[in-house]
Amino acid sequence: MATTERDYYELLGVGRTATEAEIKKAFRGLARELHPDVSEDPDAEARFKEVVEAYEVLSSPERRELYDRFGHAGLRSRGFEPTSFDFGTLGDLFSAFFGDDLFGVGGRRGAARGADIAAEVVLELGDAARGTSRDVSLGVAVACETCGGNGAEPGTQPVACPTCGGAGRVQQVSNTVFGQFVRAQTCPRCDGSGHVVEHPCKTCRGNGRVVEERTIAVEIPPGIHDGQRIRLGGEGHAGEPGGRAGDLYVLVRVRPDPRFVREGNDLISQVDLTVTQAALGATVAVPTIDGDLELEFEPGTQPGQVRVIRGAGMPVLQGRGRGDHRLLVNVTVPRRLTDEQRRLLADFERTADEETYRPDDDEGFFDKLKSAFR
Ligand SMILES: [Zn+2]
Ligand SMILES: [Zn+2]
Repeated sequence: MATTERDYYELLGVGRTATEAEIKKAFRGLARELHPDVSEDPDAEARFKEVVEAYEVLSSPERRELYDRFGHAGLRSRGFEPTSFDFGTLGDLFSAFFGDDLFGVGGRRGAARGADIAAEVVLELGDAARGTSRDVSLGVAVACETCGGNGAEPGTQPVACPTCGGAGRVQQVSNTVFGQFVRAQTCPRCDGSGHVVEHPCKTCRGNGRVVEERTIAVEIPPGIHDGQRIRLGGEGHAGEPGGRAGDLYVLVRVRPDPRFVREGNDLISQVDLTVTQAALGATVAVPTIDGDLELEFEPGTQPGQVRVIRGAGMPVLQGRGRGDHRLLVNVTVPRRLTDEQRRLLADFERTADEETYRPDDDEGFFDKLKSAFR
């Protein structure tokens, strides 16, 4: 049963006197437009079936004549049945019919790009703060010097692949709903390159590439974070002759520093003051990423206070400035006292009153907590 009573010339958008070439061209254009992988038109499938039917009739001189003289009824009287097909496998059908170039693919593939390489470096936090350079040793596939990368013994040349004649693709004849068609596929012998090596280079065994041990200096910018990757374009494995090399990806691990907690570009650490240091005030050496810093603590410094040392954190990666260093004050309480110490503290306690411990007006517990977590 025909699926349409519409005029076939109209469906293809050609005139009654259209040549075979014009009909084919019109069909190709419509097929490209209505292809299920391309078209978003919900009616594409139905329209496509009509177009195929029209093409099946008009591309056959015999059927076309019948249709010209007797219309749809003429075709039916001769038992014409349009091909039924599964819309989902149209891609295959198109390739069979037009070759893979319908959608601009196919032909000989270009020289393959080389593979990427992954490497890893481990840094101390200080190295990450200052930026550093690390040598990374790798086995890298490079073009073979003996044969210049084409895989052929010096004095010989790769020859056109006898299977595909250098085209990189082979034609496969298959029977499809359109009749017998030829489809192109990647040549299995030369893998699409179009040439084969008859006398393989002894250095690389025809591979065109050899593995070379290479040491690459990787520049690590200040401020890098644990788990970031640095890409070095073109430092990966060599590609086929004419193809570009792959890339090198260096994963950076930053070892945690037991003195600091890193939070983005900020560093957080804790300073321990004794009860007397906190009460009397003290100058204490505090470790920062740049080295020890002498810091003065006011008399009456409280545990949980946070001192912010502006610009003493980690550098902003590929940016300006640095994060802050936030210093959390801890006060250590004596655990073991001599008799004399116990007496002194008891004497102190007798002289202390509410005023001794009264907080400053601007100093609430929740303010401290907030500044600690910002
Ligand atoms: Zn070689
Ligand atoms: Zn071939």
